Parts: sequence; structure tokens; C-alpha cells
Amino acid sequence: MAESAFFRKAVGAATALALAAGMAVLAAGWLTLLRPAGRYFGFRAHAATVQPEQGKHPAANAARIEQSDDRAKLIFELSAPLDATAFVLADPDRVIVDLPQTDFALDPETGKAAYPPHRKAGLIAAFRFGQLAPGKSRIVIELGAPAQVVLAACDKSDSDGHVRFVVELAKTDRRSFEAAVQTARIQLAALAQPKTAQKPEPESAKPVIMIDPGHGGIDHGAMVKGLIEKELVFDFAKAVAAKLDADGRFKVVMTRDGDSFVPLSERVRMARDGNAALFVSIHADTLSSAADVSGATVYTLSDRASDAEAARVAEKENQSDAAAGLDKTEDASDVSGILFDLTRRETRAYSHFFAHTLVNYWRVAGRLNKNPRRSAGFLVLKAPDVPSVLLELGYLSNEKDGLALASAQWRDKASSQVADAIEAFFAARESGATVTKTDPDRVPVGKIPSAGP
Ligand SMILES: [Zn+2]
Repeated sequence: MAESAFFRKAVGAATALALAAGMAVLAAGWLTLLRPAGRYFGFRAHAATVQPEQGKHPAANAARIEQSDDRAKLIFELSAPLDATAFVLADPDRVIVDLPQTDFALDPETGKAAYPPHRKAGLIAAFRFGQLAPGKSRIVIELGAPAQVVLAACDKSDSDGHVRFVVELAKTDRRSFEAAVQTARIQLAALAQPKTAQKPEPESAKPVIMIDPGHGGIDHGAMVKGLIEKELVFDFAKAVAAKLDADGRFKVVMTRDGDSFVPLSERVRMARDGNAALFVSIHADTLSSAADVSGATVYTLSDRASDAEAARVAEKENQSDAAAGLDKTEDASDVSGILFDLTRRETRAYSHFFAHTLVNYWRVAGRLNKNPRRSAGFLVLKAPDVPSVLLELGYLSNEKDGLALASAQWRDKASSQVADAIEAFFAARESGATVTKTDPDRVPVGKIPSAGP
């Protein structure tokens, strides 16, 4: 009981206990207890010393859910009051709560599974929180059933100055829910700022390599026992970028330079406007049903998935925008016509060529999935004119992969292989190796390692 009532990042155990004792009174049958992440108090204890600057932004220090069959409350404890706006979206059904920038001093896994799996789902199936854009934070609640927002506001201050921010939901029928979604969409469209055409980057004399660390901000990606995908892939991407920078032959650009949310279509736009010669998206997978599945996989874009596993991964990675509470957007590609079909075919041929190269280099340093080359409809790989691959570093759900991914030594070794593969790819292209458009899987000879996939 003591450990399960509240999550706190920066409280002493004594405070947590006192708090839990207080909560126990409230818990009579109605309170859904959140399970803490196992390593939380131990592993992240040092975080107490890096509390966000006091007073700069409101801080959320604790969160809990109260729910019955047809009502639910998600309650955050704040350091200062704030104003919020809330609305609902469908596909998947969500409640979006927009806030001014808020420092969430909470374990990111706090809302991952808002109810024990054996319980019947309440209105709140899960929730996440984090930064959406500079100055803006967001809470996204995944709904277990259609709901309406009764309240999203701060209610009362208690004696120690803490403020409770309450999102209260009530069950509603599908038709009323869809009507509320329509209203929200109309309001969102009215608020949307017209996209200012960004000036394309001037042509660089060096090939531009775009390294794309997946997820970021409110979109944490996969989370398993304290391993957070957005953090692991960012560290890995930085290591690859540093190695390529040191090489000096490339201009290296990252799609995000910190823990910020970047929509998938924006990543594609950056690759195109930045005249990228190669786009490498970096992710880490998880498969809770099969802890023995392990190793890295390199994905390219295809209209039809190479296999069911590839389809699953693409579907999950394509949820990135939905995870951040974005409405479903149309296909980002604004290009069509015969000229682009030719470009696209050539782009795909180079993407395949690089994917093979990457697999061959990777096997020197790291473990590969039993089928390391797959393809599916990844939105982030859709730039028609930029060769693009998506590297899943491994499975957070696999013990060996998890240990490797968390190790600086492994990261150093594996990121070197990625940088070397990129160098080999460009060396082969410059040496005149060509990839035929009719046979995209043909790997040209040259400086590519001879080991087959
Ligand atoms: Zn991912």
C-alpha cells in the first residue's frame, strides 16, 4: 500500500509514507491504485537533486486516478495554479489537455497502464504527459470508453500551498462523443496557423546526413523498467552524429537536439528541405509477449509490409503523432506524377542499398534480429527523394538487448558501426557504384563488406 498510492520524484520516503497513509482513507473501493515502476525510487533517486527551477514553471509532483464505472478523475498535484484547455479526439479515442509549460517531476512510466491488466478497463486506460512545444505542455488520456470532459481545472489549495489539478470525465455515448470530436476539430482548424513556407537550406558542398532520434517530449516511445526509448535513441543518435562530424566529410543534422516533440511529417519535411542525402531514423522496440526476441532490425519503406512483425512495428512507430495528441493528418507527401515515381524508385533502391550495408556493418558489433532486413509503411521514411532507413536498435523487452542499450560501451561500439556504414555507403556511391532501378536489392560491389545478410 505504502508504495502504490502516489508517485513522487522528489519526496523522502517518510513523506511518501505519510501521504500513503492519508490516501488509504480515501481508497475505500473507489480509488484505482497506480503501480509504481519497480526501479523508481532506487534508480531515479538522484533526480531529487535536479528538481526543475523553483517558480519558473508550475511543477507537477504527483498523479493519481480515481475511477468508478462511469466517472473518472485524473488528479495532479501542482506547485502553482494554471489554466488548461481540454478536448476530445477520436482514432484512437483520447482526451487532450493543453497546459502552459509544466515541469513533470514524475516517473514517465506513471500513467503507462492505468489499471492492473486483470481489471476491467475504466474510462482512463492510460495517460502520458510532457512537453509538446516550447512553452507548451500536454496531458494525453487514452480512453477505455467514450467520455466527456466535465472539468479540467485547479480546484483547491491545501495548507502547504499545493494545488490540485483535476481532469474529471464522465461516460458518454458514441454519438455524443463523435459530436464533441467534430467540434474540437473545427476549433483546432480555426486555431491552426497557416504553415509559413520555410526557406530551403542552401545546397551544402558536403552530403547532408540527417539523423533522426525517434519520439521526444510527450511522446516517450517504448518504456520498459526504467528504459525509455526517446532517451536511449537520442543518446545513440548523438553518438553517431559526433562520429560523422569528426569524419569531416559530411554535414550532420539531427531532427531534434533535445527532449522535444517533433511530428513525423515535420521530420520528413526537414529531410527534404534540408537536401538530405541520407536519412537514418533510430528507434528501439519492445515485444512484451516474447522476451526472447532480440537484435537489431533495419527497415525500409514499402507499400506492403514484408511480414506481420514489420507491419506491427510500423503501426506502432506511426502512432507517434497520436501519442502526442495530434489529430489524424493526411498523408504528408504532397508529391505525385511520373517524375516523382522515377525519383521514388531510385530513392528506394538507394535505401535498400544502405540498409544492406548497415546490416553488414552492424553484425560486427551487435546482435541482429533473425530477420534483420524488413520493410513496411513507416510514415517517417516517406520522403520521395531522400534515401531513408529506420534502425530498431534492439528490444527493450529482451534482457540482453536492454543491458546493451543502457551501456555506454556498447553504444560507442555500435554507433561506430553505423557511422562506418554511412561512410561506406557514400564511398561506394562516389566510386561510381550504381544501383539499378529494376533491381533495388542488388548491392553494388565496392567498399561494401562482402558478408551477405
Ligand atoms: Zn520508436
